Amino acid sequence: MQSASVKGLLLIVCGPSGVGKSSLCQRLRQEFPRLKLSISCTTRAPRGQEQDGTHYHFMSDEAFVDLINQGAFAEHAKVHGNRYGTLRSTVEEIIGVGNDMLFDIDYQGARQLKAAFPQARSILLLPPSITELERRLRSRATDDDDVILRRLDAARHEMSHYGSFDFALVNDDLDAAYQRLKTVYQALQQEVRYHAPLLERLLE
Ligand code: ADP
Ligand code: 5GP
Repeated sequence: MQSASVKGLLLIVCGPSGVGKSSLCQRLRQEFPRLKLSISCTTRAPRGQEQDGTHYHFMSDEAFVDLINQGAFAEHAKVHGNRYGTLRSTVEEIIGVGNDMLFDIDYQGARQLKAAFPQARSILLLPPSITELERRLRSRATDDDDVILRRLDAARHEMSHYGSFDFALVNDDLDAAYQRLKTVYQALQQEVRYHAPLLERLLE
């Protein structure tokens, strides 16, 4: 149970590339506008229709390393050969005004963020099978063959960290998976907004 002084909830959604993180997170944000997506920094090139400042803050390796040296990141990691990170200022601005935050980051970042912010909770999304995961990666048609194969290899590694997450959900049918995600989010909101402050008052 956390302290009443802690404001917003930090919800971390992890899982192998192609499992459906973006699809599910977008839906959750549409239904709950106070849940703000954390825009990460990355050194990877924009994909498809991605825009700087909306999907990621795209930057050079040099600029990213400068930010690391300034201590600007709440977490950062190398994923699939590129650097990704969450700026401390991004988190503080959003939770400072009482909003909740949604993170689409990898297991290394999840671990760092949970260490930095005690109100962070993590969910691992699992595909129903590796065959289906590959089908989804190919259906997205945004990555080359070698990128897809590298991401499938990394999927097993990501899922082997199962034990370090607070929850795991299978994204089999999109609607069913969304209902499970929504249930977890609503339960966590209760914990942050009502149970923790109530308990603090009851125990005063
Ligand atoms: P991620 O953000 O985890 O990389 P996406 O949300 O981009 O994954 O999903 C990858 C592809 O799989 C997209 O084309 C998306 O429409 C599709 N997809 C996501 N969830 C499902 C699902 N439950 N069933 C079928 N296709 C799905
Ligand atoms: P993509 O290149 O497909 O957008 O993302 C690749 C992986 O990087 C995904 O697993 C995604 O969750 C992860 N990722 C995106 N942003 C961050 C971040 O800020 N920090 C960390 N640690 N991982 C991130």
